[in-house]
Amino acid sequence: MNREVNNYGEVVACDFCNFGEETYGGVMIGSYAVCGKCCDDRGYYKDENSSDVDEVFDTSKTFRDNVLEYREKTYGTRDAIQIITSW
Ligand SMILES: [Zn+2]
Repeated sequence: MNREVNNYGEVVACDFCNFGEETYGGVMIGSYAVCGKCCDDRGYYKDENSSDVDEVFDTSKTFRDNVLEYREKTYGTRDAIQIITSW
């Protein structure tokens, strides 16, 4: 079994548009982080109570800050860590 760990550090990118770091707010949908702009475009804030949106970020903070805080709270680190396990 091979276990490959990639640590991308404090890299933040929207899972929809790959940018969005400096936008405000954002949401988490499952394991996808969606930036403020994509949320505005798709109307996710209005869907706050729908089952699709797991967490709505603070719109007074940047998407970047929100994602880093979310990681710290959820995974105990601000780094983006990808673990690939193969057999
Ligand atoms: Zn986006």
